[in-house]
Amino acid sequence: MNSYDKDNVFAKILRGEIPCKKFYEDQTLLCFEDIAPAAPVHLLAIPKLPFNDYNDFITNATPDYISAFFKSIGEVTKLLKQDFRLITNNGGNSGQTVFHFHVHILAGKKLSSLL
Ligand code: AMP
Repeated sequence: MNSYDKDNVFAKILRGEIPCKKFYEDQTLLCFEDIAPAAPVHLLAIPKLPFNDYNDFITNATPDYISAFFKSIGEVTKLLKQDFRLITNNGGNSGQTVFHFHVHILAGKKLSSLL
């Protein structure tokens, strides 16, 4: 398993070293606007604990933490009050560029097909 880079951009956002446009936060998760939105609503939901990607998260987080994280995403999507799409890229070939696990939340228009 690759080691976690504590200087990735989302780690810096979590530490408050660089700003973000916060949408929602609780004990488990921080959710903020993507800096380069691909849809009218484009949020990123990240766990507050360090995981490289989905595989790392699902393998190494506790079941309680995994459950809390996805329930928190549900709190975010309830606030949106509209249809939405969740995406997570896992690894460079999938398009992952920031190696702190994150879920994209896209909404705000009729979204095009997946790929
Ligand atoms: P991914 O390509 O799945 O790793 O997604 C990374 C996302 O992070 C991209 O959609 C970027 O636009 C977004 N991003 C990178 N830096 C920032 C930042 N400082 N604030 C908010 N979003 C960012």
